[in-house]
Amino acid sequence: MSRCYNFSAGPAVLPEAVLEQAREEMLDWHGTGMSVMEMSHRGKDYIGIAEKAEADLRELLKIPANYKVLFMQGGATSQFAMVPMNLLPLGGSADYIDTGIWAEKAINEARILGDVRVAASSEAQSYMQVPDFSDWQCDKNAAYLHYTANETIAGVEFHQVPEANGVPLVCDMSSNILARPVDVSQFGLIYAGAQKNIGPAGLTIVIVRDDLIGHARPATPTMFDYEVYAKNDSMYNTPPTYSWYLAGLVFEWLKQQGGLDAMAALNQRKASKLYDFIDQSDYYRNVVAKDSRSWMNVTFLLGDAAREQAFMQEAAAHQLVNLKGHRLLGGMRASIYNAMPEAGVDALIAFMKEFERTSV
Ligand SMILES: *Cc1c(COP(=O)(O)O)cnc(C)c1O
Repeated sequence: MSRCYNFSAGPAVLPEAVLEQAREEMLDWHGTGMSVMEMSHRGKDYIGIAEKAEADLRELLKIPANYKVLFMQGGATSQFAMVPMNLLPLGGSADYIDTGIWAEKAINEARILGDVRVAASSEAQSYMQVPDFSDWQCDKNAAYLHYTANETIAGVEFHQVPEANGVPLVCDMSSNILARPVDVSQFGLIYAGAQKNIGPAGLTIVIVRDDLIGHARPATPTMFDYEVYAKNDSMYNTPPTYSWYLAGLVFEWLKQQGGLDAMAALNQRKASKLYDFIDQSDYYRNVVAKDSRSWMNVTFLLGDAAREQAFMQEAAAHQLVNLKGHRLLGGMRASIYNAMPEAGVDALIAFMKEFERTSV
C-alpha cells in the first residue's frame, strides 16, 4: 500500500493513525461484534462514543460550560441560513465582513432572510487581505457580526480575532478550526463543516453560547432550530454517527499530539517553510498580503496555464496530489491542514525546487 500526500482543500487528508484505528475497529468495535456504523445512536455504546468526542473537543478548545456543542449535518453552507434563522430577529439586521468567496456565500444566504450590512470588505484589494480593523463600520445594534476566519479558496486568514464591542461574534471556522488555540469566550457562535480539519464530510459542528439559543424565528422548521439540538444532545433524529465517531478519533489524536498549542507551532512552521520558499523564488508567486496569509491553504501561481498543467501532472507522478487551485481562482493551492505531516510539505518543496530547476 502506498499513500500519497493529499493537498486537497476538502474533503481532506486525515491522520493515518486515525484511519488505522478505524480499520482496526471496523468490524468489531470493542467486542460488541459490530461496526460503529451499525450501532443504534440510542444505545449506550454509541452514546459513550458521542459523549467522549464532545468531551475531548471541549478539552481541546477549552470550551466554557455556558456553550453548547451541537453535532449537525448540512455543512457550513446550511449554517449560512441557520445562523440568521436563529440569531437574526425579524426587523433586525446583521453585520458581515466580506473577505471573499465563502463570506459572500454567507452574505447572500443571510440576505434571503433579513437585513444584512457589509461592515467591511476587502473587495478593493481583490480579497487578498483581511480588511484593516480600523476601517470596519460596525453597527452596535447588529444582531451579530459574522466573519470567515479562513478563506479557503484564496488562502486568506485572520490571525487575530476581531473586536465585536459586545455584539455576538459569529465565525465560519470551517477550514481552520483546531489549527491553533482560540478563546471561545470571544465568540457568540462558531461553526465548521468537518471535512477540512475535523473528520469526514457529513458532520457540521456548531459551538454556541447558551443565551443565543432559543430565539429561532417563528415558523423555523424543527431541524433548523438550534434549541432542538441543544435539548436533545444533537440526537433529535439520527445524527451522522460514523462521522461523529471518526471526528472523536481525530480529537483523541490531537490530544496525543500535544493539543492545539502543539498544532499551532507545527502549522506555523509548515506554512512558513512553504511561503519562505515561494517568496525566495522568482518562479512561484503568492499574492496574498503577508499578514493575512493562511496557515492552512497556501496558494501560488506559476504564471502560465501550460506550465501549471505540467506542474500538476508531474507532482501527481511524485505522489503529491490535489494541488489544483479552486476553479474560480485558478493557480495552485496546497492545503496543509493538521493532518498533513511536515514531511508532506518538505516533499512538496523539494518537488517545486526540482520542477523549477528542470523547467525551460
Ligand atoms: C468548505 C467551506 C464551506 C462550505 O462547507 P460545506 O460543508 O461544503 O457546506 C464554507 N466555508 C468555508 C470557509 C469553507 O472552507
